[in-house]
Order: sequence, then structure tokens, then C-alpha cells
Amino acid sequence: MGSAPAQCSIEEWIEENVGKGKVVSRNMVSSSSWSSAYVYTTESGQKLFVKQSSNGDEGMFKGEALGLQAMYDTKTLRIPKVYHYGRLSSVPGGRGLGGGATFIIMEHLNFSGRPSQRELGRKLAEMHLAEPLDDNARQGKFGFAVDNTIGGTPQPNGWMDTWVDFFRERRLRHQLNLANDSRLSDMGDKLMANLDALFEGVEVKPSLLHGDLWSGNISAVEDGEWSILDPATYYGHHEAEFGMQWCAGFTADFWQAYHEIVLKAPGFEDRKQLYMLYHYLNHYNLFGGGYRSSAENILRQLTRKYA
Ligand code: ADP
Repeated sequence: MGSAPAQCSIEEWIEENVGKGKVVSRNMVSSSSWSSAYVYTTESGQKLFVKQSSNGDEGMFKGEALGLQAMYDTKTLRIPKVYHYGRLSSVPGGRGLGGGATFIIMEHLNFSGRPSQRELGRKLAEMHLAEPLDDNARQGKFGFAVDNTIGGTPQPNGWMDTWVDFFRERRLRHQLNLANDSRLSDMGDKLMANLDALFEGVEVKPSLLHGDLWSGNISAVEDGEWSILDPATYYGHHEAEFGMQWCAGFTADFWQAYHEIVLKAPGFEDRKQLYMLYHYLNHYNLFGGGYRSSAENILRQLTRKYA
């Protein structure tokens, strides 16, 4: 995977670097408020999946690229290979989108079929147990090489030596500060002061996490494998992967297969609430509304027991 010296067009980069001939078509496949996705096809039939944004900052695709690459390197789930990411120059006459747009080019996957939930549980467990390739994570630290985003919210990933410190400072305190809500902050302060209590007798090692694992980011690939996309990757407690489980659709088979490989630790159910709290706070910060009461209910329940 390369990052960018500025290119004058994505077509030219593909033609010069992928080696599968000229680009013969570019079809838009989706569009969101900040990015559009395209499938580029070369004359030899090779397809590439490209996301580009005319107003995104470069860090968003860098975070996605490094996250996908780190998951790809575990050789567990079927993660698209990232070819390139960066910013286009505004060279006049360049084909396609120019003018400073940011982009990521990756392997195109064909989604179809429905492999078993057991397979998803097993492969996710294998990814969580994979030996870290990052030096900081190998030394037992928590974080990631770059900050990224969770939904549209910045997600800081600066390395910390202990998981409890990382989750308190980089996750809970960060979201509580963004929420700027005195009632939530008061409850959050109490919980954060006693966060260690939720981890008594539990040894936490850095696992590579997708970080935003809900059903919209999980897809079956045509050859019977599972892929997970659009990540907010970092090295953290494997249980934190389940903070979005309220909309992930994991079945009993999934959980059974996962826990056959990664044993369930005491206190898991309460920590699942803690990890959901992070995502509810993030949803409250992004969308407002009923997510506030979901966050407050968890804070009330956990502070009653642990603070
Ligand atoms: P966004 O960042 O805008 O949410 P996504 O990463 O979710 O974009 O991708 C948008 C759409 O493109 C989704 O429908 C997703 O299934 C599809 N998609 C994502 N990655 C690939 C890929 N590597 N190959 C083919 N389709 C993909």
C-alpha cells in the first residue's frame, strides 16, 4: 500500500500501478454526505473499489487505509487489500475528479451469499487473538498508529500503557467532553474514577479491533467468507469490539463459536454495557435524541454497582 504524492487522476494511478490496462469504466455505487464510492474497471476486467471525498480531510482515508491494512495482515477475515490513498492535485486536464479531493483505492469484493454465523464468530476470534504486528501493541500498549473516526466523530488513538487508562481518557472522557452535558459528565466522572473495579481479576491484552462492528459493516463475500469494512481500527480489549452489538445481529451461534476460541471472562456482561456506553455517547453526539437516555441508563446502572 502506498500513500500519496499528489496524483492528477485516479485513472492514471490505476493504469500506471495496477498493470491491468486502461480504465474503461467508472460507475458510482453509493454516495454519502462526505464521500462517494465507485467501481473502476480496467480493459482486462480488473475491478477496483474507490472512495473519494471532495471535502474530507486526508486523515479519514488514511485511518481507513491503515485500519484495513492491519486487519488484512492478520490473514483471518476477508479484508480488501488497500492499494493506495491520498489527495489528488488540481492539475488542469487530469481525467476524473481533481481539485484536492481525497481518495482510497482498494480491492473490489463481490458480496453475496450468507456464510454461517459460526464462521463469523470463529474468524473474528482469530483476528482478536492474532499476534500484533505493530511494535507498540507488541509491547502491550493500547492505541493505533493514527487517529481515525467513529461515524463522523474524531477518535483519538494515542498509545497508552494500560487499557483502563486508554478507555477512560481516549474513549469515555473524549465523548463526555464532546457531549458537554453536566448530568452525564457527573455520572461519567464517578464511573471513570472507579473504572478499575470493572476489570478486577481480568488480564487485558491488546487485540486488533475493527472498532465499529455493526451489521452495515459486515458483508458476506461470494467465496463463502466474511468481510468487515469501514473500520475504526485500534488495539484494545477484545470485548470492546462488541460495543455496537445492539445493531450487529450476532446470533447464539456467533457467540458460541467466538467463546469457544476466546474464553468469556468474569464480568463480561457488565463490561459489554460499558463498551456500549461509548457508542451510545457517540450516537448521542452525532444524532442526539434517544441515545442520551440509553447512555444515561447505562451510567446509572454501572455507577450504582461500581462507583
Ligand atoms: P462509507 O464510508 O460512505 O460509509 P462504505 O465503506 O460503507 O462507505 O462503502 C459504501 C458501499 O460500498 C457499501 O455498500 C459497501 O458494501 C460497498 N463496499 C465497501 N467496500 C467495498 C469493496 N472493497 N468492494 C466492493 N464494495 C465495497
